Amino acid sequence: MAEVFAGPARYVQGPGVAATLGDEMTRLGLGGPVLVLAGASAIRRLGAIWEQSLERAGFAPAIHPFGGECSRREIAAVADVARRLSAQTIVGAGGGKAIDTARAVAAELELDIVSLPTIASTDAPTSAISVVYSDAGVVEEVRLHPQNPALVLVDTDVILAAPDRYLVAGMGDALSTWFEARACARSGAIHSRGGTTTRAALALAELCWRTLRADGALALAAHRAGQLDGAGTLDAGARGAFERIVEANTLLSGLGFESAGLAAAHGIHNGLTVAPGCHIALHGEKVAFGTLAQLCLEDAPAGEIDEVLAFCRSVGLPVTLRQIGLGAIDGAMLRRIAERAVQPGEVTHNEPFPVTAGMVEEAIRRADAAGQGG
Ligand SMILES: [Zn+2]
Repeated sequence: MAEVFAGPARYVQGPGVAATLGDEMTRLGLGGPVLVLAGASAIRRLGAIWEQSLERAGFAPAIHPFGGECSRREIAAVADVARRLSAQTIVGAGGGKAIDTARAVAAELELDIVSLPTIASTDAPTSAISVVYSDAGVVEEVRLHPQNPALVLVDTDVILAAPDRYLVAGMGDALSTWFEARACARSGAIHSRGGTTTRAALALAELCWRTLRADGALALAAHRAGQLDGAGTLDAGARGAFERIVEANTLLSGLGFESAGLAAAHGIHNGLTVAPGCHIALHGEKVAFGTLAQLCLEDAPAGEIDEVLAFCRSVGLPVTLRQIGLGAIDGAMLRRIAERAVQPGEVTHNEPFPVTAGMVEEAIRRADAAGQGG
């Protein structure tokens, strides 16, 4: 099996970069007409900026409001709009679901895709994956597309204006990246881009974890201060920490997970989704607890588990079942979660040893006890 590394053709991050959309597309040779798929709040805040930027660069933009779910029905409806426009490039703007829908439409019609995240809550923006849900909000399929985005444009003033819970959840998703990459390297697992990991992807994943430890709490404080005072008043140190965490959540974690692979942290996250109680928790919040459980499953050194616990507490990521909405969980539900986490084909099996439902159950209990300080 060959080593494979894949990523977006161009990643641009900084304050105010939303206004450079048209120029960045010109630089890459992307074509118009351009269909921008975006959530309502993103359109309110940024619609006029995108239009001006695209028109100035000679593109004919059309902005289409996202329906709210990345479902087969929504993908078909947006594909119809794109066909009518003869769109050559699709821009997905907003949270994960709007970008996933845009990506699925672009793959279906063989168009170029630009990813423009307005929150830093997951590491999906750089990836070539769409998670497709039923209209009722249940995961139906995970589509692996041939191409990563041509461009990922991250306007950190926009990220700064979003609630800080999203930034923290993004740190939870980024927390798992190094530990899962390490597990995949040990087992020789095949990642979602169709190869084994490179040293490059491992190095990015390790830098992601180091960045979280160095800058996570500072970035969160900066985010809160920036929201209160306006972005312009952040001092250079605070702004730097914030920028580095947005990069860790989006680029380092995105390249790390996709080109090194996922393991038990995300497998256990996927297991947790069967428990209705934890639907209150965001993806990255459940992944943070899943990371703790993965380390327990691996019998990681106590010092490493303590480091992860200390990091989670420093930014307010959940470390107990109660904190992800499962305070009153019974044995039968825990069993169902564990069985879902080890179903055939699940990323839990990328660990470098065979994993059973019983082992996952025990790991979740140990993680919860460690989180409670016991
Ligand atoms: Zn994730």
